[in-house]
Amino acid sequence: MRNLNTQIIIGTLLGILAGYGLRFVPADAALKIHTLYVAGLCGSLFMDLLKMILVPLIFTSICVGIANLQAHHQAKRVWLITLSFFAVSMSAAIILGLTASNLVKPGQGLQLSLFADAISHYEHKALAPKDFLADLLHGLFINPFAAFAAGNVLAILVFALFFGAAMVAVGDRAKPLMTLMTIVLELIMRIVGWVMRLAPIGIAGLLTKLVANQNGELLTTLLQFIMLVIVTLIIHGVIVLPGTLWLLTRKTPLWFWRGARPALITAFATSSSNATVPITLRCTEDNLKVDNSIAGFVVPLGATINMDGTALYEAAAALFVANLAGIELSMGQQLIVFCTAMIAAIGAPGIPSAGMVTMVMVLQSVGLPTEAIAILLPIDRLLDTFRTAVNVEGDMVGSVIVQHFVGGTEAPRNE
Ligand code: ASP
Repeated sequence: MRNLNTQIIIGTLLGILAGYGLRFVPADAALKIHTLYVAGLCGSLFMDLLKMILVPLIFTSICVGIANLQAHHQAKRVWLITLSFFAVSMSAAIILGLTASNLVKPGQGLQLSLFADAISHYEHKALAPKDFLADLLHGLFINPFAAFAAGNVLAILVFALFFGAAMVAVGDRAKPLMTLMTIVLELIMRIVGWVMRLAPIGIAGLLTKLVANQNGELLTTLLQFIMLVIVTLIIHGVIVLPGTLWLLTRKTPLWFWRGARPALITAFATSSSNATVPITLRCTEDNLKVDNSIAGFVVPLGATINMDGTALYEAAAALFVANLAGIELSMGQQLIVFCTAMIAAIGAPGIPSAGMVTMVMVLQSVGLPTEAIAILLPIDRLLDTFRTAVNVEGDMVGSVIVQHFVGGTEAPRNE
């Protein structure tokens, strides 16, 4: 693992450097076209491999996790600590985003032509979160086969929770199935190990393409907002989350980062909490020594609903759009932003740019012009890297905290 860690860091640096270098090569130069083609292929194949194992991994790990927990009468405590941690850490992230935006006021005085039109049609629109919430709830319970085929992680997760609970309820007669699923999970984790060996190449490819394709001009115009988001995400990821971990468990940030690094870098490069789940799970169990019955439950659940980075971003972006439009949001409206950013982050699937889609609801909830999405979209891929890394970090910190308070129920997996 240590060797792989080094290789992943080298891959990251090479990817960033190559991408940066390519920015100075003319767009039609053969070197640029071919390099981007190869980088894109390596990156997307790596993502494909991660996604290939995602569905069976999530299903088996949640089933086995929930069955192990219920069998040990720990389920209630794990649920309580997990959900409380998710709620508190996402609230802290949103408060951080709102506070920083109120202090710095990014976007104030910035004239973007796109807004002239949008603002002339500005009006207070009706609250949309209710519809969003209804859609979210309806999406929870669907035919599991359709969910498997579509890779609908939230619906798979819900079905797996029922399935795991039912295995416990049926008891002895379900034992052979439980054994079978435990073995399947072992096999899938073995495949994860193989896929991880390709992580350095995949990450280098993804980052080369990402850095090479950034629109430099727009980045400079929106620099203040971009910096605000990145700095607040770093504060949350480097101070708030590790600080909470240390306060609650006395585990040092260095210990945590050393173990979490491959997952954090993969999240950064793929911008997908879901695609990172296999690696997150492996790092959480092997490096952070969280029992597989706890990590197997907290990590997939967290990848779907616990998104500190996304929540922070949605709140900060709403205030940024308000500033651009010259609209001052009252305390009451900021409270609405707080709530909708939370729902939007919970509802956003762990895939690239998902936060951008649910962002519409946050903007609508306080009547901000949704046309602003057009401005945020070109910088989204860049900001998605940081927020996804923070999202995944939150899941790993949560797992260690739950482990600390609940304790293990099984010996850690040896491989
Ligand atoms: N890409 C993020 C994730 O997968 C979600 C988002 O904020 O767009 O966690």
